[in-house]
Amino acid sequence: MTGGAGFIGANLCQTLLALKVPEIVVIDDFSTGTFENLEGLPVEIHDASILDRVAVDKAVTRADSIIHLAARPSVPRSLADPLASNEVNVSGTLKILEAARRAGAHVVVASSSSVYGGNRRLPKREDMLPRPLSPYAVSKLAAESYALSYATCFDLPVLAVRFFNVFGPMQSAGHAYAAVIPRFVEAAVNGHKIQVHGDGQQTRDFTYVRSVTEILADAALRRIVHNGPVNLAFGTRTSLLTVISLLERIIGRRLDVEHVASRPGDVRDSQADTKILRTLFPAATLYGLESALAATVQWYTNRQSVDREVPAEPSVQIASR
Ligand code: NAD
Repeated sequence: MTGGAGFIGANLCQTLLALKVPEIVVIDDFSTGTFENLEGLPVEIHDASILDRVAVDKAVTRADSIIHLAARPSVPRSLADPLASNEVNVSGTLKILEAARRAGAHVVVASSSSVYGGNRRLPKREDMLPRPLSPYAVSKLAAESYALSYATCFDLPVLAVRFFNVFGPMQSAGHAYAAVIPRFVEAAVNGHKIQVHGDGQQTRDFTYVRSVTEILADAALRRIVHNGPVNLAFGTRTSLLTVISLLERIIGRRLDVEHVASRPGDVRDSQADTKILRTLFPAATLYGLESALAATVQWYTNRQSVDREVPAEPSVQIASR
């Protein structure tokens, strides 16, 4: 797996371990991921960039399937440095696809609902014309397109999945580029003001990370392929203000909300069409938003108290570069 020390990757490691997958290898440069996320897990870690061909070959040599999650995530980050996003998200993906060809591995590539961008039709169907609004979205569209072209040109077994707004434990919150739910939850747990960009009526297809990792694990174990991109979300549509109301109910008090300017490149509404996902993964589980938010709040609350008690020391096995 690439990007295994990040939010989705570390949750995926736990899902794969629960499924008793015998060998899990992670390659991550720890640019946004952390050792703490993998602490105590029996996974082999390669502390290296996906741009390093030798390191990638070493990490994937015995792989049946590569779940490619490593990326410079977030729209604002790509506005700050478009070239860096392109390098990791596009060239990095090409390097993984080349390594997969050499290793004979199946590949799952993480794309994003941001590729739909300015196309306002709902729900988002995979055959709609993409209209990316940010360098990040362009890089994800290029990454999934390269992956699908490798399936056509080189017969590489490929699945390109478009995540929508994934949330849950281990998602980082305390930086300028954090996603909306971790920002809201951390502010709520700490009694800080919740900052909402725009009017808060914008909607998202929020997806609990456990649903995502269960599908990714199933895709890798059954070597699922599809000849086009596949939405990985459940067709729900929730506004940011509704998320705040749910958090108020879970936490048991009113939350302080401040509206600030909208962000450039952000889309107004997002909701997945789920037909292809349901055909490929008929047993996929949708976890309810409120209980998933409650589990997320619980994780952030526990982490706050652990952070106050003991500074975390990494205790994981790290393979040499
Ligand atoms: P994350 O930042 O937590 O994880 C990304 C991981 O990739 C990190 O561990 C980071 O250290 C690693 N990484 C970055 N550059 C690297 C490089 N050059 N070499 C090796 N490792 C590198 O983000 P995430 O939310 O877990 O996202 C995982 C994937 O899902 C990304 O491809 C992202 O674009 C995609 N995605 C996520 C969401 C979401 O809602 N979280 C939505 C759409 C798409």
